[in-house]
Amino acid sequence: MTDTFRQTIEAWDGESVVVSHDTTTGTWIFIALHDTRLGCAVGGTRMKTYPSPVDGLVDALRLGEGMTYKWAGIGIPFGGGKAVLATPGPLGDEERNGLLERYGGLLASLRGAFRTGVDLGTSPDDLLRVDRGAGYVIGVANGHSEDPGPFTALGVFGGIRAAVSHRFGADSLGGRSVLVQGVGGVGLPLAELLAADGVKLYVSDIDAGAARAAATRLHGQAVDPDDVYDTEVDVYAPCAIGATINPDTLPRLRCAIVAGSANNQLLTEAEAAGLQERGILYAPDYIINAGGAMAFAGLYEGVTEKDELNARVSTIEDSLRSIFSEARDAGESPLASAKRLAERYLQSGGSAAT
Ligand code: NAD
Repeated sequence: MTDTFRQTIEAWDGESVVVSHDTTTGTWIFIALHDTRLGCAVGGTRMKTYPSPVDGLVDALRLGEGMTYKWAGIGIPFGGGKAVLATPGPLGDEERNGLLERYGGLLASLRGAFRTGVDLGTSPDDLLRVDRGAGYVIGVANGHSEDPGPFTALGVFGGIRAAVSHRFGADSLGGRSVLVQGVGGVGLPLAELLAADGVKLYVSDIDAGAARAAATRLHGQAVDPDDVYDTEVDVYAPCAIGATINPDTLPRLRCAIVAGSANNQLLTEAEAAGLQERGILYAPDYIINAGGAMAFAGLYEGVTEKDELNARVSTIEDSLRSIFSEARDAGESPLASAKRLAERYLQSGGSAAT
């Protein structure tokens, strides 16, 4: 192990890291188990090519920690963890399938210490291949794997309702303008929900064809990716990549609310204060985008009825209403309030109300 590997792991405050090298494909596998005080670690499996394996390791550690706060923030007694499969480049189908099967073997060797689901770069079908009946993948049953995207979209939709209500005192989204950045697995179903609720819809995607198709079908307007931050809207909903709120974009934003599904929307926590100073209400990403995680926690408990899963996801709206009120009363950013809430839940061993 190189010094950088060792130093990166030693500087982390999590519990343990499983590091494995898949020699057949040259892929590094990192499973970061951050905090299992509340239960076994649960988090997605990301597959991505990084500039170097250490970047993959850093991503796994950061995302694993994020999962601890996500579960605690929504009051679900799971531990935080994340897996990263850092591939050396694009893999052929056979290579990729072999890697997924061997990764499944690695998961089985952990005997339930880590349970997983889809994330960036992995599909429901990939996770079926990983699981092969072992039971360490959440959301697969009878050869079928659930897509978390629509559940996440439903949670974000509720979060936008909570934010609009808090910011404008309006219970309806009718006539409000929302810009959805990224019309993929989450952004597209979110745009559908918004359009059906009478929102003036703007969509943007680096895939211009996808943005145009969504805009045409949902009677919205396509926005060039370069113009997203300068477009005047009530709500900017980042549903594509992380770190879109940064020192470059922050002064440009012409929205009243930032509320979307992307993970790690803020480049650093300083941007939460920056948004606050500009009077822009921020819905903490790991709370508003927890719908898929909540639904998968339900599936893990054996709940299969869609209505029941949707009902659980819909509680995100009320959680955010409480966070916004607490932040206003404390004169702090919603991110600070959400973090305090999660800390309280962790320290109570899962008994404090969230
Ligand atoms: P996805 O890959 O299905 O869709 C992402 C979309 O964003 C694609 O259409 C892509 O072309 C577009 N895109 C990429 N870069 C862009 C850019 N710079 N500008 C505009 N568009 C861009 O991903 P997804 O599952 O929809 O997830 C979206 C975001 O939400 C990610 O950050 C993901 O980590 C986060 N998230 C997803 C879930 C889930 O349930 N899928 C849950 C929690 C968080």
